Amino acid sequence: MKIAVIGAGSCGLAALRHCTSGTYDCEVVCYEKTDQVGGTWVYTEETGLDRYGLPIHTSMYKNLRTNLPKEVMGYPDYPIPDTPESYLTRTQILEFLNSYCDHFKLRQHIRFLHNVELVTPTSGGDRKWTIKVKDLQKNTVTSDSFDAVMVCNGHYFKPNVPNLKGHETFQGRQLHSHDYRTPDIFTNKTVVVVGAGPSGMDLALDISKKATRVILSHHTRESIGTIFPENVVQKPDIKELTQSGALFTDGSSESIDAVFYCTGYEYSFPFLDPKCGVRVDSNMVTPLWKHLISIENPTLAVVGIPYYVCAFNMFDLQVRFVLRFWSGKKDFPSKEDMLKEEKEELEKLLAKGLRKRHFHEMGHKQGVYFDDIANIAGITRLPPVISKLHDESSMRFLDDLVHYRESRYKIIDDYNFIQL
Ligand SMILES: Cc1cc2nc3c(=O)[nH]c(=O)nc-3n(C[C@H](O)[C@H](O)[C@H](O)COP(=O)(O)OP(=O)(O)OC[C@H]3O[C@@H](n4cnc5c(N)ncnc54)[C@H](O)[C@@H]3O)c2cc1C
Repeated sequence: MKIAVIGAGSCGLAALRHCTSGTYDCEVVCYEKTDQVGGTWVYTEETGLDRYGLPIHTSMYKNLRTNLPKEVMGYPDYPIPDTPESYLTRTQILEFLNSYCDHFKLRQHIRFLHNVELVTPTSGGDRKWTIKVKDLQKNTVTSDSFDAVMVCNGHYFKPNVPNLKGHETFQGRQLHSHDYRTPDIFTNKTVVVVGAGPSGMDLALDISKKATRVILSHHTRESIGTIFPENVVQKPDIKELTQSGALFTDGSSESIDAVFYCTGYEYSFPFLDPKCGVRVDSNMVTPLWKHLISIENPTLAVVGIPYYVCAFNMFDLQVRFVLRFWSGKKDFPSKEDMLKEEKEELEKLLAKGLRKRHFHEMGHKQGVYFDDIANIAGITRLPPVISKLHDESSMRFLDDLVHYRESRYKIIDDYNFIQL
């Protein structure tokens, strides 16, 4: 079986690791459009387009420290080595990903500076997929065919920017977190941070060291309980931007220098031909079985879609799941059954008052998802302790944004961790 992996971030590396393990009889090629592994963990000061005219992929910022302890951030068979602290820097994570890549000798399978431009189901012929790929250095486009494709292109590169009333009138700076690198740009400024998800909260903290005043604008129902630095205040949504200020839905107004959108990202697969049978509908990637397998064409897998999860662990599990089916050790349910399952899951979500765009959000549900796919495929499950520690860390984050990264943890068995 010949498999294509698109992207060599932490997800594509997990795909390569299992495709090359010898357990499955397969040949694999991984296309990576940048010149190195690590995806979003590769920091660059560049924003906008790269020297090949492609959008800069990474959303990494200079001062980033992880928002999860390293104890849950490794791979199941390759944990992050012991260090005194639990919350690591972006550089430590990138080094870890490079060591994973070298340990499993994955680099030889990666074609760097190769941008996948188009994936189409092949009509006729032996293999099911045709991939058109551009060699960026040579500026040539070639096609190759494959039996199966794992899409691992990451999900934090296409900014979601709200269309605020008055955004064309506002004369100050407007920036999405995708293009944010260092807090210096906000030195002595009054900045509205829009959005209080994990990145909005973390970035409010990061820029508070340089900005005069940070206004965190959000519609989280209750005021966020965490202790912010003194120059950070909370406000409801922006109703309208004016030339030099913002009006908020509570009737208050502020004079501001910049609007900083921390409003998240949209799933995007610019290279998937519509005939592939996977689309993004209100930020739900569909139709997929188990948030993963294309129901229309099950030899296409979109790995890494669920969020608020122990990402690298989940990538490893999803890849092992996919390979059990592709290798014929397990059979897919019928198309009707897979569609029905997805529909029922969506209906449950909508009945709870949530929206389609929350379909892939896991959080405290991740353990159930992990066990479900492990049981179905008959593969080694992820230890429950990682979901437990993930929950603990998320709670600490909400309680004490400024200090939660000082906590240190140790996993003692599959079910328990201790705080040191
Ligand atoms: C700012 C930020 C902070 C985060 N912090 C944490 C954290 O603390 N802990 C945590 O667990 N997770 C964190 N995450 C989530 C993080 O995205 C995941 O941990 C993980 O790195 C995602 O890996 P990935 O391989 O799916 O995607 P990416 O890392 O984005 O990798 C995708 C790769 O695909 C390549 N690619 C894309 N399109 C093409 C194409 N057409 N052709 C060829 N190659 C292509 C890209 O160049 C890239 O190398 C954070 C994310 C962001 C943005």
